[in-house]
Amino acid sequence: LETRLAVADRMAALGTLAGGVAHEINNPLTFITSNLLYLEESLGPVAADQLPHIEEMRKAVFDAREGAHRVRTIVRELRTFSRVEDARRVPVDVHRGLDFAISMAAQELRPRARLVRDYGQIPAVLGDETRLGQVFLNLLVNAAQAIPEGNPGEHTVTVHTHLSESGQVQVEIRDTGSGMRPEVLARIFEPFFTTKPVGVGTGLGLSICHGIVAAHGGSISARSELGKGTVFTVLLPATDAPLAVPQKAVTPPRPVRA
Ligand code: ADP
Repeated sequence: LETRLAVADRMAALGTLAGGVAHEINNPLTFITSNLLYLEESLGPVAADQLPHIEEMRKAVFDAREGAHRVRTIVRELRTFSRVEDARRVPVDVHRGLDFAISMAAQELRPRARLVRDYGQIPAVLGDETRLGQVFLNLLVNAAQAIPEGNPGEHTVTVHTHLSESGQVQVEIRDTGSGMRPEVLARIFEPFFTTKPVGVGTGLGLSICHGIVAAHGGSISARSELGKGTVFTVLLPATDAPLAVPQKAVTPPRPVRA
């Protein structure tokens, strides 16, 4: 419990800080990017006989722009922290949020695993559908990335929902991927903790998930076994309130297959 409180405190502090810092970084970053773009365009028509190291210069400017792009991604993710608190609170259809996240993650999932929907009877939760969708999407992309490409028939990512014994809506996202060592598992909710190569992971995904779920009065946890797979469990408070928007007839859920 102490660890969880410490994480929550750090998240709150980071959230406050992140909004301000992200804002301060954004302006000079725009400036950097547009200047680099100007340089790149100016170097475009220059020929090698005019400037001996022109190819290296082009490469240097291109790399700098890539770097600025990466900073922009981190800043954008940081800003979501600061906006977690002013999230909407309306009755949300969790299955709809999951379906949306599944379709968004399809490209990552398809070459790696079969997706299994195991949806139970659950009430709505009070919250922000977009943000909850972001949580599910993060978990699904992580699940996919824990599975090597190429053998989608051998792996599954299972999305299971049911009403927990304590009356909360429980969402489980289970993968048959790499699993994690205990020392990795212990750190996954820390901001900037990642085991992925630069450019693939920022290490912010799960800390953002943690922040969003906590802001909904819920909890998120993970169990993992190295070489076997991982299960993320999200618990969200249920509501009796009816869904805000009448549900139009949607196509019945069907398993997404490769
Ligand atoms: P990122 O995905 O950018 O690395 P996250 O905060 O989403 O950041 O995840 C942190 C780390 O947790 C990952 O780098 C990875 O080591 C581990 N992780 C998360 N989900 C899984 C999973 N389903 N299976 C194995 N490892 C995972």
